[in-house]
Amino acid sequence: MPVYFILEENNADWRMKIGRATNLKGRRGALQTGNSRPLKVVGWIEAVNEAETEKRLHEKYAAHNIGRDGGSSAREWFHLQPADILEDLHRAGIHGFVEKNTDAFEVVGHDRDGVPEYLGIWDWSSLELEECCPFCGCFCGMHFQDASQMFHCLSCDELTDFSQPEFDNEEDYRAWKEHEECLKVGPATKARRSRLD
Ligand SMILES: [Zn+2]
Repeated sequence: MPVYFILEENNADWRMKIGRATNLKGRRGALQTGNSRPLKVVGWIEAVNEAETEKRLHEKYAAHNIGRDGGSSAREWFHLQPADILEDLHRAGIHGFVEKNTDAFEVVGHDRDGVPEYLGIWDWSSLELEECCPFCGCFCGMHFQDASQMFHCLSCDELTDFSQPEFDNEEDYRAWKEHEECLKVGPATKARRSRLD
């Protein structure tokens, strides 16, 4: 079960909920009901022992805790920003994920090696390809494979040399992606991928 970070955006007074949920989208939706401030999933940790991970994080940030409304859920809210918890996601490695930006693949330039640079995976900080996979948001990052001369992600098994066309919108990207899926990989990888989608 993932331990999630959900951000409540409220001008300068941002707040973060650290909790556990099987269904992150469902939890975010439930929390949003009756809250006029937008809530966003920032990231999550796929913890083996989620209760322990959650407890550790609650203790780590105890000084930032908001004891608001005195309810039982108040202890899960903290005065934290996405940049504050980035390290926690990083340290989780292959178990750490960011909620991807939907425009992550908008190409904004190219580096010295001609590798396209994208708008970014995350809304709150720019993350390098090597540290965070732009396809699944995993902090295993993508690693260059000498054998294939391509970049590979251990989490979602994406293998690419980024020689893809540029896309104006996500629909075009998805169409291209679907076509690409048909050309490669076995059923195991496909099943794994659709589970992550
Ligand atoms: Zn990935």
